[in-house]
Amino acid sequence: MKNIYFTVGPTQVYETYEKHMFTAMQEEIPSLSHRGQEFKDLYKHTIELLREIFGFPPHFHVFFTGSSLESMERIIQNTVRETSYHVITGSFGKRFFQTAESLKKKPIQYAVPDGQGWNGPQMKIPKSTELIALTQNDTSTGVVLPMEEIYAVKDSHPHAFIAIDIVSSAPYTLVDWDKIDLGFFSVQKGFGLPAGLGVLLVSEKAVEKARTLQKEGVNIGSFHNFVELGEKAAVYQTPETPNVLNIYLLAKVCEDLLKKGMPTIRTETEEKGRMMLEFFAKKEGFSPFVKEEKYRSITSLVIDTGGRTTQIAKSLAAKGIVIGKGYGAYKDTHIRLANFPSQRIEHVEKLLKALQNV
Ligand SMILES: *Cc1c(COP(=O)(O)O)cnc(C)c1O
Repeated sequence: MKNIYFTVGPTQVYETYEKHMFTAMQEEIPSLSHRGQEFKDLYKHTIELLREIFGFPPHFHVFFTGSSLESMERIIQNTVRETSYHVITGSFGKRFFQTAESLKKKPIQYAVPDGQGWNGPQMKIPKSTELIALTQNDTSTGVVLPMEEIYAVKDSHPHAFIAIDIVSSAPYTLVDWDKIDLGFFSVQKGFGLPAGLGVLLVSEKAVEKARTLQKEGVNIGSFHNFVELGEKAAVYQTPETPNVLNIYLLAKVCEDLLKKGMPTIRTETEEKGRMMLEFFAKKEGFSPFVKEEKYRSITSLVIDTGGRTTQIAKSLAAKGIVIGKGYGAYKDTHIRLANFPSQRIEHVEKLLKALQNV
């Protein structure tokens, strides 16, 4: 019998994954030339599907990267001359900040104690800030930044770009792209696909900034800079040989999600989140790590186990259920549970039944 995965990434594959893999083999997708018309059609189709799911306007570019860590690097290189501002609500926000440091920029950090929300609208962000980097959903702590509070930051700092890491909240989170300049995710999380493909959404204004920086002689990277990515994307191509198989699978899963309907997907996500949180509220020995509800993620739950993580994970594994252990220092004290479209209601029911007896 196959395991059920609640790990946050890679995670449970989407329910139609095997069928699409099989079709991809029959259609010889791995041998498809990335310079041919069929690939261009696939790229164009994938953008259209993503636009339908995420609702970004036509001036947004869709770039494919190798992963979300790469997307962080590309964003810093292409939109920051000197100063970026990083809100750190966990390890992924910290990683974004460190990326800017590695690239010899002058990043500023606003670190929040683990498990707590921020004071977004009250932050003192210097006027010279070119980019505000936010982890909308930090998978290490389970802290989510409500979109309304992010928009308020944009309203008070209209000259800075806002980049959001939506790796573990996409495709659930609804985004008003008039207030957001860049967003990114990887397919091994909310889309239930194999790792190795990142999707980076970039406004035309951000591409313009990259052009300006390039003219000034700032190093914006080589083959994956926004200028070259933009020129290629305009003709539905990529600079390098991309992960064509994964792009194909992404398009197929997007089609399935849209067939089911995004409102249904979102309602189901909330329903599954509610089931899990209600269970942990009642179950002795478990408590959500994030105490304030509005900052508590429902797409990647982090639950305190009082140090019983190893025992719990073992007991579930014996029943064919794989969960995520705590991140880093929380390895033995937290469990992390994905609530993506690939985790179905019946999977959650099975998980909670198994957790009754741990
Ligand atoms: C997993 C994750 C990343 C990194 O994604 P990769 O595809 O491994 O580069 C970045 N941010 C968040 C919030 C994540 O959960």
